[in-house]
Amino acid sequence: MKNFTTKAELQQYLAQLKAKGAIIGFVPTMGALHQGHLSLITKAQQQCDVVVCSIFVNPTQFTDPRDLEIYPRPLQDDIKKLELVNCDILFNPGVDEVYAGNEQWHLDIGELEGLLEGKFRPGHYQGVTQVVYKLFNIVKPDVAFFGQKDYQQFMVISRMIKLLNMSVKLVMCPIERESDGLAMSSRNIHLTPDDRQHALILSQTLNDVKRNFDSHKIDKLKQEAVSKINNVPEVELAYFEIVDGDTLLPANEHTKNSVALVAATVGKTRLIDNVII
Ligand code: AMP
Repeated sequence: MKNFTTKAELQQYLAQLKAKGAIIGFVPTMGALHQGHLSLITKAQQQCDVVVCSIFVNPTQFTDPRDLEIYPRPLQDDIKKLELVNCDILFNPGVDEVYAGNEQWHLDIGELEGLLEGKFRPGHYQGVTQVVYKLFNIVKPDVAFFGQKDYQQFMVISRMIKLLNMSVKLVMCPIERESDGLAMSSRNIHLTPDDRQHALILSQTLNDVKRNFDSHKIDKLKQEAVSKINNVPEVELAYFEIVDGDTLLPANEHTKNSVALVAATVGKTRLIDNVII
């Protein structure tokens, strides 16, 4: 695997591959790689000639400085994992390589930015659009792969691409889960064994909603879901919503593609999960 820390070297190398007509796939991550990330790389390998994975813990998308400070950064392990799945290129820049200084610009993507996660983490999606815009500009991929795990993030990036007429194609990849249903996340290493058990209520409740889904009973399903989660006192619910998968506005009986999304803090760790109904 080629490992670049500067955009100049990465771009020089990619230019040679692009000149030969290679289709470039891109998987942006913040590292602490798990099977979820690796599934994105596998999917990218199936659709592209060359796969670039980036590892960059983006400071501008963290709303809590402590969260940024304790975010895991096991770079050597990550490199081994990427080599094992035959990733072609790792781009692992420092903050100064990506940001010119204290950049204040942000892209107005409308109400998507203030819903759900955006309401609880003001500024989060401004940071996400900043970094993804910059990474897309550096890598100029043909196809970029993102996880359904961050459903709203996928919608935000789709919106950005549309607004800016960017030519990259986006692919959403399914959520990889532990055998007990917990959605894989780099943050799971912060869960104690007890937290880990309590956290299972999130995926269980999402599955219950999917199993019992009835578009005429959305309010009732939501109320039941909220009370199920609130019955586990160790889990502090931020939101449980059933929304239209295109607009992220509340679903109703006419909605064609509903998505149930949840966010909660378990112990000291904030978790998100969702299911497409
Ligand atoms: P992150 O490193 O958390 O920024 O995630 C990088 C990419 O991996 C994003 O597109 C995430 O949606 C995706 N991802 C994270 N967790 C999972 C998972 N459990 N299954 C599939 N994709 C995931």
